[in-house]
Amino acid sequence: MAKEERSRKEVVIEYSGSKLRVEVDEKGFYVCPLCGALFVSPRDLVSHIIGHALGLPDNRRASPERP
Ligand SMILES: [Zn+2]
Repeated sequence: MAKEERSRKEVVIEYSGSKLRVEVDEKGFYVCPLCGALFVSPRDLVSHIIGHALGLPDNRRASPERP
């Protein structure tokens, strides 16, 4: 998946006092920096990233996919 810097912006989200720098795509979806999955809310993304940290298999629930 190619990075499209032009249409994405970087935002900082906070979780339990930690700050995570992530990208938001042109449609407002939060992008997982590890696998590129898209999430509608920073909270969903954070829980997904925690899954990565714990070594869980990809759990991209009902995340919106690219059209
Ligand atoms: Zn991910």
